[in-house]
Amino acid sequence: MIPVTRTFLPPIEEYHKYLYRIWSSNQIANGGELWKELKERIQEYLRSNDLILTANGTLPLQIALKNLAANGEVITTPFSYVASTAAIVWENCIPVFVDIHPEYLTIDETKIEAAITKRTTAILATHVFGNSCNVEAIETIAQKYGLKVIYDAAHCFGVNYNGQSIFTWGDVSTCSFHATKIFHTGEGGAMFCRDAKLYQKLFQSHNFGHEGPLNFQGVGINAKMNELQAGMGLAVLPYVEENIKKRKKVIEQYEGQLNFSKLKRLRLREGTEWNYSYYPVIFENEETLIKVQQTLNKKEIFPRRYFYPSLNTLKYVSYEEMPVSERIAETIMCLPLAHNMDRTETDLIIEEVNRILN
Ligand SMILES: *Cc1c(COP(=O)(O)O)cnc(C)c1O
Repeated sequence: MIPVTRTFLPPIEEYHKYLYRIWSSNQIANGGELWKELKERIQEYLRSNDLILTANGTLPLQIALKNLAANGEVITTPFSYVASTAAIVWENCIPVFVDIHPEYLTIDETKIEAAITKRTTAILATHVFGNSCNVEAIETIAQKYGLKVIYDAAHCFGVNYNGQSIFTWGDVSTCSFHATKIFHTGEGGAMFCRDAKLYQKLFQSHNFGHEGPLNFQGVGINAKMNELQAGMGLAVLPYVEENIKKRKKVIEQYEGQLNFSKLKRLRLREGTEWNYSYYPVIFENEETLIKVQQTLNKKEIFPRRYFYPSLNTLKYVSYEEMPVSERIAETIMCLPLAHNMDRTETDLIIEEVNRILN
């Protein structure tokens, strides 16, 4: 069986080492020593110094929206995982979709200004598949109209843009450490924020709004990462670099052998130092995609339709046509990609896909 990805698990003894430390500290939640250590290690690894660890990658989106979007209209991308839009609606904001660029697949920054109204408070864009949005253009627009910028950077662990961590962009940038992501803590996530005052507000928000033991800054929620998660993160982190290299090898095989006269690939934005997080390919039409998917499924190979459907078609948002996103969502599929895929697996997938395309 070849699933779309396989979770990386570190040698179990290395996780045990952290479990022994939890047992001897007798602290399993609320800012324990592993939580502190993981924060420091990630900061070192990414060369950033401003993150808050969270229980998953969706809560930081909600917390950022709660603090920055003030129940207003939030300009967002229709091409992302459902969490980006769901968080907006869940926080009682109104998603206003702006179509995507047909090759970069990130929000089309040239269409953002036309979507701004008096009620717009923020832009929530996704660096989809780890590909950077046009962050400079988005920052210029945000400054011009006094809008906040939140990046769903769930796919971006290890991505640099022009030599700097992509997480340094936006008022807040979020990441997911879910088991299917490049770096994981089982479930987990983080939010990054450079502004010290906002950082403090976000930090308090993720711990019930506590300002001190007996006083509260405002409404808060529990989004804290626990010690078991932090221990997993500490055991996984030393392998991230090696895993990224292994994924790069798999992608190089796909790139070298797939029939690109009938397929399109993601175009990375210039300046993006990528993390090889996904391998999406775009078919000529949905019929071909379904044929490829069914054929692969028969061989126990399970690519996934990331991301379908286009989020402007969700039942709980008001529909406006997004031709590019809808067409991409219908024709894009991620081929299996993992640190431990071997050449025979990749060869089999390439052979099957090419056979149907011919
Ligand atoms: C994975 C993902 C999330 C959600 O992260 P969780 O850690 O599963 O809550 C949010 N946005 C995008 C784009 C994702 O891929």
